[in-house]
Amino acid sequence: MPARFQEIKDWTPGYMNVAPAHLDMMVKCTACGLEREFSKEHLPRSLRQALVKDIEKRLSCSSCGAKAGKLKFGYWLREE
Ligand SMILES: [Zn+2]
Repeated sequence: MPARFQEIKDWTPGYMNVAPAHLDMMVKCTACGLEREFSKEHLPRSLRQALVKDIEKRLSCSSCGAKAGKLKFGYWLREE
């Protein structure tokens, strides 16, 4: 079974550097619904302490090209 991403609903750390290191992230395109994994390591150094909202504005979807990304915080559940 693939792992399932369990989102912490209605929660955001506000700033990226406040997000606990053990949390995983997904980015969802609110235009087409595509979801993919997101890693802080991919952020330029200048954005690692940015507001989550400011980072979302810069995310463009690899499928439809919309700049409608929404960051989701949570963790992977392994289904045994
Ligand atoms: Zn999209």
